Order: sequence, then structure tokens, then C-alpha cells
Amino acid sequence: KRPKPDSRPKSEEKPTNPDRIDDKWRPPPTITEPGSSPETYLTGRKLGKGGFAVCFEGRTKRTADVFALKVVKAKVEQKKMMEKFRTELQIHAKMHHPNIVEFLRAFTIGDHTYVVLELCPNGSLAEMVKARSCLSLPEVRRYMIQICGGVKYMHKRSVIHRDLKMGNIFLDSRMNIKIGDFGLAAVMADEQDRRTTLCGTPNYIAPEILSKSGNRGHDNKVDTWAVGVICYAMLMGVPPFQSKTQQEIYTKLRTLEYEWKIDSKNYVPQQAKDFVASCLNLNSAERPGMDELVEHEFFTMGAIAEELDISTLKASPLWL
Ligand code: ADP
Repeated sequence: KRPKPDSRPKSEEKPTNPDRIDDKWRPPPTITEPGSSPETYLTGRKLGKGGFAVCFEGRTKRTADVFALKVVKAKVEQKKMMEKFRTELQIHAKMHHPNIVEFLRAFTIGDHTYVVLELCPNGSLAEMVKARSCLSLPEVRRYMIQICGGVKYMHKRSVIHRDLKMGNIFLDSRMNIKIGDFGLAAVMADEQDRRTTLCGTPNYIAPEILSKSGNRGHDNKVDTWAVGVICYAMLMGVPPFQSKTQQEIYTKLRTLEYEWKIDSKNYVPQQAKDFVASCLNLNSAERPGMDELVEHEFFTMGAIAEELDISTLKASPLWL
């Protein structure tokens, strides 16, 4: 029986909206930034598309350096989308960390706004995990350490990402993690500040975001929850609460209904299960912060992959 189209989980999908750039749209072959010391970019292949943006490769004429050009419509009908984009730029521009996609600049030409970002040529974690079905423990440790490092940096600066998921975590040319898409990020005014907007993607959403009772809001521990979901998904190939419908996902996560289906191919040590369980705590106050997470025994009980090459996008590393 086919599920109704509107009841499918929108796990890694982006919602359609009228302000998104047409699929067939391509940028002109060269783009010259406005301003006194303009850079000219030669545009290249399409890298991907999101809820409202399309990304293309862009090479500077002067230095031949390659970047990702994220393009959005300059005039967006929906006020909410405009705000999303504005916060995204403001927050992202302040983030400078080896595991966060570097934001270089943004400018508008005609009907389009271009955001120049560090290029992540090896796609997202979502694509790699899909191709590999699950990753080896030394790889998971390496990626998790890098993810926690990037998130720790944000949290130190009072930024909550709020949309951490494998589709928003990219890989650079040396297979290093680069966290991107700050479209749902928020700045916390102080320790007591709690956000009350519903945001996130079903599979990665923390229970307190769903809870209507009392609406006590959420804090940076929603990112800890997502980190736990990501770790489980890298080890098992699918997110822990994966279900046919969004409602089923929500029911499962509210009751912590997930299991470790272990077979001969994917041995998961107790320390990894403990790591995930500590993140997937229904009580957000009991979830560890990033400082605590990076100290977890899971990272010290076994090998961490140091160098990984791009063959690991499609196949297990040779040492396995
Ligand atoms: P949106 O804000 O509309 O969700 P995203 O930021 O997710 O858009 O970007 C859309 C797609 O473009 C991504 O899924 C990815 O395929 C590609 N992309 C985004 N940023 C980069 C980057 N820095 N390097 C390479 N590809 C990228």
C-alpha cells in the first residue's frame, strides 16, 4: 500500500516553496561582484539544490580558486523566507572554524543574491552514508569528533544550529567535516534564553521542540540530540526513529523507541551505544554539552581514522 504523498516522512527533503529558483535556471557564465575591488567568477557545474537555493561552482578569474556559489532570489515573496535568509547570512558570516563551511561574502546582481562559500566538493554525509550503508568505527569517531568540534565552537558563541542533519554536513576535498546551512540557526541572548519556534527536520528533531505542553522552549541541547541521531545513522545506515510517516517518527522519538539491529557487518561497541543514548535523553538538561561529549570513552576506546581518501565516499577504507 502506498502512503499518501503528504504523509511521507520529509526526512532529508526540503519543502517546496514558490520562492525557490527554477530547476532549469543557470547563472550567467561570468559574474562580476559589484563594488570597488570586484572579483569575477566563472560559473561551473551545479552542486545541488535546497529548499530555496541552488548551488554552483564558481572559479575566480584572478586566482582560479574555486568556491560554491549559493544563489537565491533577491526578492522573496514570503517574509519568513527572507528572514531565514537574513539570519543565515548574519550568523554564518561570524563563524570561522575548520569544521564549518566558511562564508566569504554575499552580493546581489539583478534578481539574484549570490553567497560565496567554501567549496565542499565531496557532497554531504547523507550521500556518503547512503552509498556506503554504514561507516566503520574509526571513520565514525573521526567524523563525530569533527562535528562535535564545530558545534562546540557555535555553542561557545551562543549560536544553536537547530538543523543539524547528515544532509547539512558536507565533506571537503580531504574528507573533513564542514557544517553548513545556518538557515534555522538562532543566537541565544543569554543562558536563560529559550527559543520557542518549531524547527528542524523530523528524523533529527528533539522532543522538547515538539512538546506543546507548557511550551518551555529549547536551548542548545537540541543540537546534542541531533548529534546523537547523526552518530546512530552513521553506525546503522538509517536514523534511529526512521518510519513511514512523520507522525510515527514523532511517536517513536517521544518514547525513545529505537534499537540496535546488529549483524555480522556492523558491530557496535557498548561505548558507541552509550554515546548515542546520552545524546538521546528525553530530558534535555541531562544531555551532555559538546565539552563533555568530546571526552566520551567512545573516542578513546578504539582507533580514529586520521587520513581518509575520496574512495571512502563509495567503499569501505582499504584497512578494513
Ligand atoms: P538551502 O538553504 O536552500 O537548504 P543548502 O544550503 O542546503 O540550501 O544548499 C543546497 C545544496 O547545495 C546542498 O544540498 C548541497 O548539495 C549544495 N551545497 C551547499 N553548500 C555547498 C558547499 N559549500 N559546497 C558544495 N555544495 C554545497
